[in-house]
Amino acid sequence: MSSPSTADLLIVDADVVTLDPARPRARAVAVSRGVVVDVGGDEVAERWRGSRTEVVTLGGAALTPGWVDGHSHPVGSLTMSAGADLTAVRTLDQLRERLAQLARESTDGWVQGWGLVPDVFPGGVPRADLVDDALGGALCLLRMADAHSALASTSLLRAAGVDGPRRFASTAEVICDATADGPRPTGFLLEWDAMALADRHAPSAPDAELRSRLRSLLGDMAAQGLVGAHVMDGDAASLDLLARTEDDGDLPLRLRVAPFCMPGVDDDDVAQLVAWQERTGRRWRVAGVKLMIDGTIDGGTAWLDHADANGESTGSYWRDPQAYARAVRALDAAGVPTVTHAIGDGGVRFVMDVLEPLGPPVPADSAPGRRAAHRLEHLETLPDDLVTRIGRSGITASMQPTHCSHFVAADGSDNWSVRLGPERAGHGWRIRDLLGAGALVVLGSDWPVAHFDARAIMAAAQLRRPVEDDDAAPVGPDQAISAVAALTGYTRAPALAVGDAARGVIRVGAAADLTAVGVDPTTAPPADLAAAPVVLTVVGGAPVHRTL
Ligand SMILES: [Zn+2]
Repeated sequence: MSSPSTADLLIVDADVVTLDPARPRARAVAVSRGVVVDVGGDEVAERWRGSRTEVVTLGGAALTPGWVDGHSHPVGSLTMSAGADLTAVRTLDQLRERLAQLARESTDGWVQGWGLVPDVFPGGVPRADLVDDALGGALCLLRMADAHSALASTSLLRAAGVDGPRRFASTAEVICDATADGPRPTGFLLEWDAMALADRHAPSAPDAELRSRLRSLLGDMAAQGLVGAHVMDGDAASLDLLARTEDDGDLPLRLRVAPFCMPGVDDDDVAQLVAWQERTGRRWRVAGVKLMIDGTIDGGTAWLDHADANGESTGSYWRDPQAYARAVRALDAAGVPTVTHAIGDGGVRFVMDVLEPLGPPVPADSAPGRRAAHRLEHLETLPDDLVTRIGRSGITASMQPTHCSHFVAADGSDNWSVRLGPERAGHGWRIRDLLGAGALVVLGSDWPVAHFDARAIMAAAQLRRPVEDDDAAPVGPDQAISAVAALTGYTRAPALAVGDAARGVIRVGAAADLTAVGVDPTTAPPADLAAAPVVLTVVGGAPVHRTL
């Protein structure tokens, strides 16, 4: 391929933050065929401008490597957020009123909702009999805010044939009351396998609607500066949906999808997951596999070294954790990097025991093998020994700063802190310590569990409180990270985590995935970053969002 003499895209009058130590700052960037071909001062424009060059003048706005959300569920969120948004509902009366209204308006006899917090129910325990009579006979499925549990109406339980406890390969549970007639489901369904019993009866939106909702969501993400996301769920249906959505036109950003490997997996399932690694579109590809070793601390389903204050969170999501280990080793042998949701210290310890002997990834220019490090998601509470171990191991840590800043109270009064007690809660979201121990730390949102706005998340990583709430006390302020570390967590770190050294940096030869924002994210006060407009998003050399 001959080298180009003119650029397809020139970005000038920019405050370029390259994250390249050899040239940290620049004023202009030239792009050709999706690759950065020059970085420098005003001379770049003179050198590369041609008759067909698109020129974007940033007027002094900052240009950084493109932002990548290291943990997101854009496709899964289409079903996770089916129906009415219940995130603002705070009392049982409000919920019942809302459900009655939704039931009256329903045209298919169904009511669905999402984002409901358990505190709406007495004792924080969702029960169908507290809402059944408000539904006027409609079938109802409410997905809780933690995305790990759901409430099915009694009518839905009946339609789904769920009339008692079930046993799964996972420790998911159909929660039941003990009655004189034996155990009776309350409607509360804990973790994936139990939720699936109700999920598969719920009507899904028509394909065209799913495609347009996905495209519009991805467009919103690109408009907020994201050039890519690591997608932490997937199955045959969601991969097909991505392919069909791309048939309608290029996706607004790049997606790397790690499909699920769930308890109960057999050799054929593992072979399928390996075969899926070949699936790729223009801006999406399957890369890696997602597993979950535990659930959540709030739900009492995490795996802690020692039980929580309620005597819960004592074991794996896998009824047989050794089956998890076998699946991971089989995937590793096939060259597939794994990503494991590991929230409690006991779960992290178990996963580290499995991953450490598998060793580091092989370099891109050597024989076939696994190209990226295995990876741990969430890591909500870690004792010192695990921080040190993760730092030494080369295993990637993936953290979501707004889970800490938005769902936990500094005074320890929230459910998460109460369950863990002060010492373990004090060891929450140790981002700074992990970086200090040498770990590669990827940052992300876990959308739709928290919002995907990278500016607010980078701000929260620095503040350890919601950037929009000046009065909130910081949670674990000693774990606040610098502005540069926050930006790195959204740029260079996710690139290195997937073994892609040509991204997450602005230098000659790097992929032209770029984000421009009104203020310099490495020097602006966090609140200014959160409020700054994203003025340009470039994916593969093509502007996908532009306000200038
Ligand atoms: Zn997630």
